[in-house]
Amino acid sequence: MTDPILVADGIWKSFGNLAVLKGVSMSVSRGEVVALLGPSGSGKSTFLRCLDFLEQPDSGVVTLNGERVGVIETARGLYERKSHDLARQRSRLGMVFQRFNLFGHVSAIENVAMPLRLVKDLSHAEAHERAVGILGRMGLADHGHKRPSQLSGGQQQRVAIARAVALNPDAILFDEPTSALDPELVHEVLDTMSALAKDGMTMIVVTHEIGFAKQVADRVVFMDGGVILEQGTAVEVLDNPQNPRTRAFLAKVT
Ligand code: ADP
Ligand code: MG
Repeated sequence: MTDPILVADGIWKSFGNLAVLKGVSMSVSRGEVVALLGPSGSGKSTFLRCLDFLEQPDSGVVTLNGERVGVIETARGLYERKSHDLARQRSRLGMVFQRFNLFGHVSAIENVAMPLRLVKDLSHAEAHERAVGILGRMGLADHGHKRPSQLSGGQQQRVAIARAVALNPDAILFDEPTSALDPELVHEVLDTMSALAKDGMTMIVVTHEIGFAKQVADRVVFMDGGVILEQGTAVEVLDNPQNPRTRAFLAKVT
């Protein structure tokens, strides 16, 4: 895996006096699955949000498929991308959050189909067909007509994953996708994510599910205090952590 698709170089971000990211760099190859671990408050969510410009980094560069995210570099300096251009870039990067973020007043099918019409300009019929197909692949064929409130948390999160997948993104960023679920529903979402990884989806997954990281991640990254303290294969970082803070964290979550 040598084809970098998503590259963050030296990302700094502060909120007021609070420095949250202090020079975070990460290069993700096409098809790679990165598990991002770290204690609460270490800057994981802020980092993911900087990757698709939901937060604007104070400094540092993010590129997706070789294109600067959020800004355009010209001979005369940097310009912020116009909103439609930023929307186009963001549609190349899927986001799955802890709290599903589905539209509550429409069906599962419509949750998947609506962005296909708005972002990909598909017709009603095409968007509907693709949504039904992807929900079927996620094991939700019988639930497409239901609204989010009629679905379990695990099913809702799988709809959210289907919505991200439907847009055929370059990568999907997951921010603690199972943290809001009842324990018995965690596995169905992790299974869906494992299947995506097997299909070759490029993924960054913020998670406390160490078993999932061990089985699925090509690389495990440990972050604390706004910096990456340690990274390597799952065996290196999870079975044989070198940094005392990685060890202390793993002792708490496993
Ligand atoms: P993590 O996801 O690792 O738990 P976050 O990136 O959510 O960490 O938060 C890192 C730190 O940044 C926390 O101290 C949090 O309170 C702070 N923070 C995050 N977003 C904001 C914001 N929009 N304004 C002010 N502080 C923020
Ligand atoms: Mg977070």
